[in-house]
Amino acid sequence: MTIEIPDSSIPQGPEAQPVNSFLREQIAEDVRTKKFGDAVIQTRFPPEPNGYLHIGHAKAISIDFGLADEFGGKTNLRFDDTNPEKEEQEYVDAIMEDIRWLGFEWERLCYASDYFGQLYEWALQLIKAGKAYVDDLTADEIRQHRGTLTEPGKDSPYRNRSVEENLDLLQRMKSGEFPDGSRVLRAKIDMASPNLNMRDPVMYRILHATHHRTGDAWCIYPMYDYAHGQSDSIEKVTHSMCSLEFADHQPLYRWFIDNLGIFPSQQIEFDRLNFTYTVLSKRKLLQLVQERRVSGWDDPRMPTLSGLRRRGFTAEAIRALVTSLGASRTNVVQDIELLEHFQRDDLNRRARRAMAVLHPLKVIIDNYPAGQEEFVEVANNPEDSSAGTRQVPFSRELYIEQDDFREVPPAKYYRLSPGKEVRLRNAYFVTARSVVRDATGNVVEVHCTYDPASRGGNSPDGRKVKSTIHWVSSAHAISAEVRLYDRLFTKADPYDVGEGEDVLSNLNPNSLEILSDAKLEPSLAEVKAEDQFQFERVGYFCVDRDSAPEKLVFNRTLSLKDSWAKIEKATSGGGDAR
Ligand code: ATP
Ligand code: MG
Repeated sequence: MTIEIPDSSIPQGPEAQPVNSFLREQIAEDVRTKKFGDAVIQTRFPPEPNGYLHIGHAKAISIDFGLADEFGGKTNLRFDDTNPEKEEQEYVDAIMEDIRWLGFEWERLCYASDYFGQLYEWALQLIKAGKAYVDDLTADEIRQHRGTLTEPGKDSPYRNRSVEENLDLLQRMKSGEFPDGSRVLRAKIDMASPNLNMRDPVMYRILHATHHRTGDAWCIYPMYDYAHGQSDSIEKVTHSMCSLEFADHQPLYRWFIDNLGIFPSQQIEFDRLNFTYTVLSKRKLLQLVQERRVSGWDDPRMPTLSGLRRRGFTAEAIRALVTSLGASRTNVVQDIELLEHFQRDDLNRRARRAMAVLHPLKVIIDNYPAGQEEFVEVANNPEDSSAGTRQVPFSRELYIEQDDFREVPPAKYYRLSPGKEVRLRNAYFVTARSVVRDATGNVVEVHCTYDPASRGGNSPDGRKVKSTIHWVSSAHAISAEVRLYDRLFTKADPYDVGEGEDVLSNLNPNSLEILSDAKLEPSLAEVKAEDQFQFERVGYFCVDRDSAPEKLVFNRTLSLKDSWAKIEKATSGGGDAR
């Protein structure tokens, strides 16, 4: 099923023209004016290895790698690993895997922790220039001294220590003489600056913690803000692109660069991607994992790249989406339906069709000879004739969806009901005649008759039926577990919570339903993890990595219903740039 979007302003497919023009123009301008001499354009993607990548990161990755590529430049992957307490090798490995899955390859693999020595040397340099000092105030006191947006901060009583004393204290902090939290090194900038980041920010803290790469070599660690800009500079990053919340930090990064007299990377900010019905804060995602609200970072309900992938989302669709969204200077929450729309579009083109019955109801065709079987030819993908056809077995006993039969049909119900004739997809016309019930009165079998002349799904007398339903031959069916995933949160804005409530109070309690005995056509016996299908009339599904030949497991990627077209119509008023 393809939903046509009239007047859509969304470019489709990988050839879509991205609209992140202000980034492109800035780089083009810098090339023209030789701002960085003849240096090649160098970008980087700089994750903190404290969680898995999510769909928001896909946007940053696509911008960092995409723009460098457009300008014949290069992109590093750099882990900004300055916080040993929250970082792990597991995250480093997962991040690398996800970037490659998305289809990008970095020039150099870098770590901020490789620069710890250099950063320390630079700290000494700033102290010697009278631009940094060791502060003995506690974290709380520093916070109290910082002031607010409307009030200036207050100088620390330790602000005017001598260079010698500062050098001595920093050296002793480094050699492990002092306990965690007892002292920090601060930049000496301006406690009255309107930008709070410039009010003598902390550069180093004491932390007796083991780092995932440097082990116990250090017990002082640079703050992210002291490491990030200089790491860019060390790598000769020409254009350091990041999300908007870093705009207020740019003057600080610039201050360090200017005062150290080092390579002047140019930071440019773009909007942070967000979606309805999910959260993209690593802290919240970690909480979901730690509290076991999901099975892990790659739970198919998670907005992480590994979760989306396990759910059956494709790198192509995610790339097409973030490319079409482009970059802007305003944060917008995108409708999750847009992501789903891109994915349906991609799967509609590539997913092989199959018949699967999720909630089986037995159908017996009384006038079909017992013991007989035949094969009907079915197209593997009507959108792609090169996908070929396959033979699907048909016999006297079949499964259909429980939903496709009503003993007492409501108005406009055209599917199977007593006396009503419907088409079994690619096979025959059948008419329901009677039902068999179990002890509690539930219909467990529907007895039908078929019209042998309607083979292939059309009757020679031109008789019309109003409904076509899918089916699986019961003797040939294979069983599978099917995991039906729904949105993780019940509210479009999960942060819309009552007093004292956490975002997790908006978790959707029905985001996973497991069907243990779905019936599949036999061609699905030979599937492998990540294979993707459209189960006709039901939705898009992929093979989970838990799947094994003796116990197949499928994940529902998406149902077939595309609600994006409706939203687009309701909100665009005829096509603004969404
Ligand atoms: P969190 O704040 O949830 O911990 P983060 O944004 O700090 O996440 P990083 O690992 O620091 O995560 O991000 C790496 C890069 O990805 C940064 O340059 C950041 O600007 C960018 N990025 C992160 N989230 C988004 C998003 N939702 N949209 C666009 N870019 C993002
Ligand atoms: Mg960050």
